[in-house]
Amino acid sequence: MSDALRNWAGNIAFGASSLARPKSIEELQDIVSQADKVRTLGSGHSFNRIADTGGTIISLSQLERTIRIDAVANTVTVDGGATYADVAPKLHQAGYALRNVASLPNITIAGAVVTATHGSGDANQNLAAAVAAIKIVGPTGEITAMRRGEPDFDGAVVNLGALGILSELTLDLVPAFDVRQNVYLDLPVLTLVDNFHELMGRAYSVSVFTRWQGTHADMVWVKSLDGAGTPADEILGARAATGPSHPIPGMDGSVCTGQMGLVGPWHERLFHFAIGNTASAGAELQSELFVARADAPAAIAALHAAQDQFSPALFISEIRSVAADQLWLSSAYQQDTIGFHFTWKPEWETTIAAVKAVEAALAPFAPRAHWAKVFTLPAADVRSRYPRLADFRALANRVDPNGKFRNDFVTALLFD
Ligand SMILES: Cc1cc2nc3c(=O)[nH]c(=O)nc-3n(C[C@H](O)[C@H](O)[C@H](O)COP(=O)(O)OP(=O)(O)OC[C@H]3O[C@@H](n4cnc5c(N)ncnc54)[C@H](O)[C@@H]3O)c2cc1C
Repeated sequence: MSDALRNWAGNIAFGASSLARPKSIEELQDIVSQADKVRTLGSGHSFNRIADTGGTIISLSQLERTIRIDAVANTVTVDGGATYADVAPKLHQAGYALRNVASLPNITIAGAVVTATHGSGDANQNLAAAVAAIKIVGPTGEITAMRRGEPDFDGAVVNLGALGILSELTLDLVPAFDVRQNVYLDLPVLTLVDNFHELMGRAYSVSVFTRWQGTHADMVWVKSLDGAGTPADEILGARAATGPSHPIPGMDGSVCTGQMGLVGPWHERLFHFAIGNTASAGAELQSELFVARADAPAAIAALHAAQDQFSPALFISEIRSVAADQLWLSSAYQQDTIGFHFTWKPEWETTIAAVKAVEAALAPFAPRAHWAKVFTLPAADVRSRYPRLADFRALANRVDPNGKFRNDFVTALLFD
């Protein structure tokens, strides 16, 4: 195969011997049954080799889009290639919403779910926690259906693509709701440390953006449910922005969802980047570590003390809150969690040095790493943070005994 196939960021050239784009589930089943090694490629927004294989990469982008609402169960069933941008506006038109979303809409729902992608909000769980049922194509091409509550379901959702190909996902819905978004500038870091839990708990979704420079965090993005009161003029000394902001200071805020307190539908406020617009910097790398929510103030103080070691490599960092869930390989497994995300300038060597400095600063808090982003934590450390890992391995060995869906990344991290 030509070496032109790369991830969104361009830092990974996939080593696949072939790329398949089935147009139907039957074609997908045939391709899987005949291949030796298979990985699925979503929209390619991961920053490491999680989607790579030397065998066949299968993209579901040419499957017919399925968006099937069940008004009795309050769920929607989507195909394995659908993106949030495909689905969210249609849900809204029908009077429904997803409880939460990530920063950008153009990732596939399947790719987000299997990597435990998340948004923010003390009461909002990872996006995978909204999955009520899945259909998964196994190594012989057979399709297995699994529902929440069944044995092993909690191990099968966040699966790093290692159990098979999600051909359908059914997600919980809530009634459509409206949100207002306000951005506040220049929050003193010491104030952030002292008031962290109060700050993160003050709205439906709160993000703190900082370049880890000097004494102030750059921005607080507050997404409040409409009707939750009048937006504050200032928050803990941070003043209200007077124009649209972008997560990366200096970039054009008009590509983002509506701010300045203007009330709008959930899918036009909860993503940071508006549907149809370019997300983030483009040429960038990302990493993210998760610590227990209770440890977050100490973790912020530790990063602040070490900031000179990594801030020159940064575009921006984001601090978000995720509620605990029961999914075995979730970054928030049985733990209310805070994510420390970093968007790095696209220089590999300096990024790796900076990632290591962040990992060292957060080591006392036994962090979990985002499966889809850059990290250098030893496999032993990664494994030690997932109490149900042995059960996941047993599940994978049962459904895929020859490891058709495993790649070097997953094997070295979880199986060797
Ligand atoms: C600009 C940007 C913003 C981001 N914002 C956030 C954020 O707000 N929160 C967050 O947590 N993460 C965020 N991420 C990370 C992103 O959510 C993950 O990389 C996610 O996996 C991307 O989905 P994808 O469709 O691109 O998956 P890919 O990168 O294509 O694949 C990821 C994994 O999913 C597997 N996979 C894909 N489809 C299927 C399927 N149908 N069945 C089985 N396995 C499948 C692949 O094999 C691979 O293992 C961001 C990334 C970028 C580039």
